[in-house]
Amino acid sequence: MNTQMLIGSRFEAGTETEEQVLDPRTGGLIRAIPEASPMQIDDAVNAAERAFAGWSRTTPAQRSNYLLRIAQAIEDDADGFAALEALNCGKPINAVRNDEIPAIVDCWRFFAGAIRNMHGTVAGEYLPGHTSMIRRDPIGIVASIAPWNYPLMMMAWKLAPAIAGGNTVVFKPSEQTPLTALKLARVLCDILPEGVVNVVLGRGESVGNTLINHPKVSMISITGDVATGKKVLQAAARSVKRTHLELGGKAPVIVFDDADVDAVVSGLRAFGYYNAGQDCTAACRIYAGPRIHDRLVDELSSAVSTIRYNQQDDTQNEIGPLISRRQRDRVASFVERASELPHIRIATGGHMAGDKGFYYEPTVIAGALQSDEIVRREVFGPVVSVTRFTDPEDAIAWANDSDYGLASSVWTKDIDKAMRTAARLQYGCTWINTHFMLVNEMPHGGLKQSGYGKDMSVYALEDYTAVRHVMINHG
Ligand code: NAD
Repeated sequence: MNTQMLIGSRFEAGTETEEQVLDPRTGGLIRAIPEASPMQIDDAVNAAERAFAGWSRTTPAQRSNYLLRIAQAIEDDADGFAALEALNCGKPINAVRNDEIPAIVDCWRFFAGAIRNMHGTVAGEYLPGHTSMIRRDPIGIVASIAPWNYPLMMMAWKLAPAIAGGNTVVFKPSEQTPLTALKLARVLCDILPEGVVNVVLGRGESVGNTLINHPKVSMISITGDVATGKKVLQAAARSVKRTHLELGGKAPVIVFDDADVDAVVSGLRAFGYYNAGQDCTAACRIYAGPRIHDRLVDELSSAVSTIRYNQQDDTQNEIGPLISRRQRDRVASFVERASELPHIRIATGGHMAGDKGFYYEPTVIAGALQSDEIVRREVFGPVVSVTRFTDPEDAIAWANDSDYGLASSVWTKDIDKAMRTAARLQYGCTWINTHFMLVNEMPHGGLKQSGYGKDMSVYALEDYTAVRHVMINHG
């Protein structure tokens, strides 16, 4: 297990405070890993700066080949990456091995292809005797900061478009889940020229904060909490850095009376609880029509009560524990406060689970009102609330009545109703009769306080490159 950071082509241990990396299934220590010193962060930024001169001048085809080799290396060691991610995050091995790793490999391959297909405006004469052309060029050094819910996938989403676009990167994984980033660092060091990607370790308030305030960093890319995004904006304002923000979510799910109940129930059982609900797109805020509501609550509750977790044989698990005791306690306190309200009924779940580790029962909260905290705030756990609506206009208004704007879904057999509703939802993504499905060709990103950075798709390449105008005077 690699516990050393990658700085240029050197692997070295941090020299500062040790961070305890825990196994969420047991609460036991996996490793204590020291964080980077300000001098080591500076070394990493300087290595990225030295690499930029050469890397930014490579051709798209050359960069594409590097990305393809990275994808292949991950695929070749898929079991190793999956096992380490499952250990560090408590994820069921099948979820990582069969869902995440193929999507991660595909992300690297997608950007390997996309960078060779970037389109620009045609060159032309907009002033007599002058030809203008548009270039898309790299931005410089990107400070890239990831959360703990999908560590290796977030690393792919951030690194692949950044380096495909010709930038160099200093990457910081979450202090709670650094292990697969450190494993991938070995691969990146073998494949990429020195300094193109550097990996530093440590907490947000120390290492993250030093990194985003570094004067040589031209762009900050972060996936995390809204509060963290705001700190990034403050740091960026000091020296006018570009920012790419992917922040939280509280996805509304509008279920009209004519929806296919079986499809809704099996969809919500999967998409509300995947990764123990630690997903910014999780289908967590249900608005159900008056005729479908009671049946939906009943059938969803019994379906959710069968979700398998905390089984000795991990291949049987559908979800894992929460990432930390803090996160588990946070989830528990949301449910506790909700359960004190007279109109709320905990239809299933509602307790911590297991005698060790950070498990929480998959939970359905019925009777929630639009004004309730459980409907308004991001819980980031296996908890879904259901709110009854009578007027469809209310459902759309309530869905949009949120600080967040990342993902949403509409369930109905009436395609006209589905399209009219989707057009009015203020979310980066709206699914119809499904939820949660991501493909590397399509953008993922939000509106409002969910941020504005786009991950995946050619739109990510646009985010990680600058539009430049070159004009020739030829008389
Ligand atoms: P977090 O904001 O606490 O941490 C995210 C990363 O930012 C970590 O690496 C952390 O060390 C770093 N960080 C924290 N404070 C910092 C600071 N002052 N300066 C620089 N870096 C700092 O979030 P988290 O708890 O790790 O992740 C959960 C959050 O991420 C949730 O709110 C979730 O919705 C959000 N999320 C969003 C998306 C998306 O695509 N929009 C995807 C996944 C997670």
